Amino acid sequence: MVADASFPLKLGTMVLDGKKNIYGFELVVRNRPGILYVIGKEFKDRNINILHIMHSDTTKDVVNIYVVGDFSEAISSPEELIREFMENKDLFIKVSLAKKALDFIFSTSLFPIMINFNRVVVIGPAFIEGILHNLRKNLGHEMALSILYHLGYSIGQQGFTRYAVPLKLTPEKLDDLMALIDALFVSHGWARVKKYEVRGNEIIIDFEDNWECSFQDKEDPFGSHFFKGVLAGIFQRLYNKQVEIKEVKCITRGDDVCRFEIKILK
Ligand SMILES: [Zn+2]
Repeated sequence: MVADASFPLKLGTMVLDGKKNIYGFELVVRNRPGILYVIGKEFKDRNINILHIMHSDTTKDVVNIYVVGDFSEAISSPEELIREFMENKDLFIKVSLAKKALDFIFSTSLFPIMINFNRVVVIGPAFIEGILHNLRKNLGHEMALSILYHLGYSIGQQGFTRYAVPLKLTPEKLDDLMALIDALFVSHGWARVKKYEVRGNEIIIDFEDNWECSFQDKEDPFGSHFFKGVLAGIFQRLYNKQVEIKEVKCITRGDDVCRFEIKILK
């Protein structure tokens, strides 16, 4: 399993309005083939560059499409664009400007956020820095790392119950489990599995861009504890045995990956 080139996913439900001429639109449309073409053509014909485009659940007949456009070189105003869309009553039910507040443009309709059919919550930098830095400051280094580990451990166990058990994953299906870990970790923005191998009773996994380590201060790194916990929770459930996990390479120490050695104990 080799990770491909990395193109960060920008959700764009909230856009920092650095430029003056950026406008967001909420388009409530009928779910018909070519609807994105129709929208894209209107933007193209007016020389408006699309900066973000997102949509709601496409299994429904009516879909909300949220588009943010740069009007710097536009030959029409946002209001003219809205009027043009609304003339096409067959496809467009409602078109309005997206909400602007302080420096932000955001979609009030695209809520909650779903990955596959599950609701997810995005934990941003303030939350993560609070967990990684203030927890250590407030509770002490050892206690904070132990909490991170146990938080991860509980999540690993619950993740196994929720995703691996229905797939009937067993130690013989390690490749399938690793594919599941890659799919879940990548789609939730946690890390990418670069490669893994089995050596005797050890599984060695290389993760790229593991969030826990990428958020750490270069001056004060402490490595992965949440991740170790997640892997412990998953692999203990898979083998029904105790495991011992070491992080032997880490991006906080200048390595290109975080490498975990998972030893399955007797
Ligand atoms: Zn690391």
